[in-house]
Parts: sequence; C-alpha cells; structure tokens
Amino acid sequence: MKHNCSFRDKKIETMSREELESLQIIKLREIVASALKTDFYKERLNSIGLSDAKDIKGFEDFRKIPFTTKDDLRNAFPYGMLSVDKKDVVRMHASSGTTGTPTVIYFSQDDLDAWTEIVARSVVCTGCSNSDVFQNMMTYGLFTGGLGVHYGAEKSGMMVIPTSSGNTMRQLKLMKDFQTTVVHATPSYLLHMFHQVEAEGFSLSDFNLKKALIGAEPHSEDTRKKIEALYGIDAYNSYGLSEMNGPGVAFECEYKDGMHVWEDGYIAEIVDRYTLNPIDEGEGELVLTNLIRHATPILRYRTRDLTEFVSGDCACGRTHRRIKRIKGRTDDMLIINGVNVFPSQIEEIIMKLPEIGNNYLIEVSKQGDLDKLTVKTEVNNQIFTDDTRDLNKLKGKIKETLKATIFINPEVSLHETGSLPVTQGKAVRVIDHRDSN
Ligand SMILES: [Zn+2]
Repeated sequence: MKHNCSFRDKKIETMSREELESLQIIKLREIVASALKTDFYKERLNSIGLSDAKDIKGFEDFRKIPFTTKDDLRNAFPYGMLSVDKKDVVRMHASSGTTGTPTVIYFSQDDLDAWTEIVARSVVCTGCSNSDVFQNMMTYGLFTGGLGVHYGAEKSGMMVIPTSSGNTMRQLKLMKDFQTTVVHATPSYLLHMFHQVEAEGFSLSDFNLKKALIGAEPHSEDTRKKIEALYGIDAYNSYGLSEMNGPGVAFECEYKDGMHVWEDGYIAEIVDRYTLNPIDEGEGELVLTNLIRHATPILRYRTRDLTEFVSGDCACGRTHRRIKRIKGRTDDMLIINGVNVFPSQIEEIIMKLPEIGNNYLIEVSKQGDLDKLTVKTEVNNQIFTDDTRDLNKLKGKIKETLKATIFINPEVSLHETGSLPVTQGKAVRVIDHRDSN
C-alpha cells in the first residue's frame, strides 16, 4: 500500500505535546468563559469555587470540573446550555436522549467554521484531495452525520454528492455516473450495498471507488477488512458524537493504527469506568471537552464509550493522540444502523398506549448485513379475535409512533398477556442477537 501522508495544517497537526497542551489551556479558558454565561455551568462551576475563567491555570484546575452527562443536557432542554444570544445561532442539531427529551446543540457561524476546518483536516488525513468525488451516504437532518461531514468535505476541495442515506439503487447509479472515488457510510450499510451491486444490474468494474470513510457504529477490525476486500478499497475508521459537534472528533490517518483525536479542538481523557479517575493506560470511558463550540459549551462530557489511548508515536508524524476503536458502552444505548436508541425511549412510547400490557421485549438482530429492531409487546387479550383488523391497526399505530420518535422502522409483534417470558429480579428487556465486536 502506498502511503502518501498529506497535511492540511502541518503546524497544528505536528505540534509538540507542550505546545498542544498550552494551546488547550488557552482555548479551555475561552470555552469556560462561554460556559459561565449559561445558567447550568455558572451554578456548577461556582460550586467548585470557579467564577472566573482566568482561575484555570492548568490541567489540575481543569480536572476539578465535574463531569457533564447526557442527563444534564436533557435537563437543560431546550435552551439551558445556550451561551450566546439566539440571534448569533445559525444551526442546531439534536440527538436522542435517554428518554423522549432530545439533547440539543447550537452553533454560531464561528463554531461551524471551526468544526468544518477540523472535518476538512480529517478527510485530508485519510488522503482525500480535490481530485476526489465524495458521495456522502450518511443521513442529512437533525443527526450530525450527514451535514457534519458535508461542509468539511467541500472545504477540502472534493466534489460532494449529498445523497444522504438509503435508496441503494440510486446510490449505485450515482457512484457509476459520477465515478465516485470516496464514500462516507456506516460499515453495515456498505456491506449491505455490496450485496445489491449485482442484484441492481451493476458490476464492481462500473465503479471507481478508492476509499470509504466509515463510522457512526462500533465495528471490528474484521469488518473493516471485509469491506476493504469486497470492494478492493481502503476503509478508514472515524469517531464523533453530536455533543462534540458530530463527525471529526477523531479520525484515522493513512496508517490506520488508531484514530487521532484533534487535540486543538477537543480535550480527551480516559477515565477508569468505576473510579472515574483519569488513566493514561488501559481501557476506560472516554471523556471529552469541546474547545471549539462556544454557543453550546460542553465540559468533561461522559461519552459512555469505552476505548484506550494508543501508545507511542504514529508513523504519519501527527502528534495528536490516538484512541483505539470503540469497544462498547457503559450504558444500555443501542446503536442500530448508526442510529442511537435507548431502550427507555421505546418503553416510554409503548407504555403510553392503553392497549399495551406490562411486559415487552426488545430484540436486535441482523437481517443480512443490516440491523433489525423487533419490539414484542403484550396486549389486552380482548383484541385477539377472529377479526384481525383491530390488531393490525394497533400494530400500525405502535410502528408509526416508534418510527416518529426513534427514527427507526421497527418490526412490531403483539402477544397475549402472560405469553412473553418473565424474568426473575431485574427484567431482561433487551436481547441483542448481533455478534458483539
Ligand atoms: Zn497517524
């Protein structure tokens, strides 16, 4: 394989550790100053005696800041974390919360510009250039996956085809007609698409694909290798989450040996999952601080994602620390075809329906290469008659309500009261049949 590392901003990408850390502290003071303008952080930072950003002298002071959680963001819905005048906000994104309340983030134009720059750097880091044609198969909308990469990809000079997700036939046709060289998608979608190539009347030789940028769902090294072998391309892993803007928090370079966290944009800590003390070695929960988004500053955010730092220097010469692929989560969040879903969201929806009984089961499985969500729920026995119209109507209602809230089209099956297995002690409501990577 030919390695031809290209830098977008070599000075920043190869800064010494000392330079990077002093830059982080300068940016941290600025972001804390913004945070102090929100009611939420004002109270929280004052409680540890921090009322002026200048009081942050170094990382010791930084580590005194309490963690921020998804619940904090949910409780601040809708505007509790906003630190600027609404007039200065130019975009919002939202992701699912642990219950029905979403978590919302806001961007000023400066925030978007800073994010765009970091995404542009990320794609260049994988070897993309202005001679590439880039097809963005991630969902455009409230989720950050589509739009988040879109502007950075444009900034890198690539020609961007904003297809969004789904409609495999159209994806393949565009790939052929415009000779797409780079795609951005979830790994499961790329596997799914491969099996459609022949079925849709195409052959691999119709395409000019060279690279795939993959992310939004955890996957194994074997899955990456499978994608690379099937298509005959290079696939690069990436990491991001909406609380930290979205895609582009960490990206692999051409050496594919861990993802570089862009440390001029984010402070990454890995904490022991039980003591929550920062650790330098070994696996723990990733905690991130966003240094570039002032409209919604988020400090020391517990991502719930498990990973570890890669030790040593990367052959590419970039000094920004690398993290390994995400190993799992410390909470019960499910990632289904790249979309985050909490079982509690599903429970909240179905338990509101009067026809529903007490017991339900959520099953996740693989259908081909894609994930499939099945919600099994008990209903009042009166509904089971020879006439199945009421039953089908209820099924349709549950399906639609779930789809509107969790953005996933689930299978729904209805069962007689007492027919689903009852577990002793803590109820087992979720069964994940997918291979754990
Ligand atoms: Zn590297």
